[in-house]
Amino acid sequence: MVVSSKSFLMYAKCIPSGECLKCPIRGRSITYGPFKSRRRGVSIGINLFPIAKVCSFNCIYCFRGPTKILSVEPVDDGAGINESLLKDSLRIAYEEVMKEFRTINAIDFSGSGEPTLHPKLPELVGTVKSFVKEYGLDVSVGMFTNSTTLHSNHIVKTLKNLDYVEAKLDTVIQSKFELINIPHKTLSIDRIVNNLRNFRKEFNGVLTIQTILIKYNNIINYTFEDAKALAEALTTIEPDEVHLYTTYKTPRVENVEKVSYEVMRDFSNVLERYGLKVEIYLS
Ligand code: SF4
Repeated sequence: MVVSSKSFLMYAKCIPSGECLKCPIRGRSITYGPFKSRRRGVSIGINLFPIAKVCSFNCIYCFRGPTKILSVEPVDDGAGINESLLKDSLRIAYEEVMKEFRTINAIDFSGSGEPTLHPKLPELVGTVKSFVKEYGLDVSVGMFTNSTTLHSNHIVKTLKNLDYVEAKLDTVIQSKFELINIPHKTLSIDRIVNNLRNFRKEFNGVLTIQTILIKYNNIINYTFEDAKALAEALTTIEPDEVHLYTTYKTPRVENVEKVSYEVMRDFSNVLERYGLKVEIYLS
């Protein structure tokens, strides 16, 4: 079911394959789902950029397509998502989820791009929290972020209101970071790691680091040295968990390849030797 407003949709039910690049909606809805996953249970996703993908990265494996607005500053894609649009959209999504699953475990900001770049993020987090309270729900409210805005006090203050933050860190090596994540030119991986470290000290919810292992021509981020360098950085960040993925959906750049379970397991073993709690997700 889809409900339209302007040139985007209030809600879109995801296609069974979950392949965003093969979906006719292609990220043009505010809420989407429902999903059932090992990591978040039954969840709804929130997309704050339903018109054009806004991100500070343009990752080669992104399954949302190319970044349309590459920015490290808050920017609206023209959709003007506000509190009342989000609330209406959440209500529609919630009713759809309850029809199918009769329960909901999580509501997550994720979607097309980097949600923390939305100019109204504090108000929109407040909208979700009020919605949860109003409906008497026992859900985890989360944010999937690429970790590039954690230098900002107002983003840290906003994220502290959440139950769950999953923060991306695919590599701690600047040259690989530039080739894999294709970041805005002002971004450095050392500063991102430092910001994650500081964020951990402030955030009392569940902090998960998300690492995506890939192969693209001669670029790989899963050697023993990659794992060791990442593990050393992660021990200073102290996340609750590390989630390892590979490209399980169609990547935006052809020839970005998945890695095998064995590669993920070996990588995981290195992290675990440093005392980190690791989960492997193949899909
Ligand atoms: S950070 Fe996420 S949304 Fe942005 S380009 Fe990378 S995978 Fe896509």
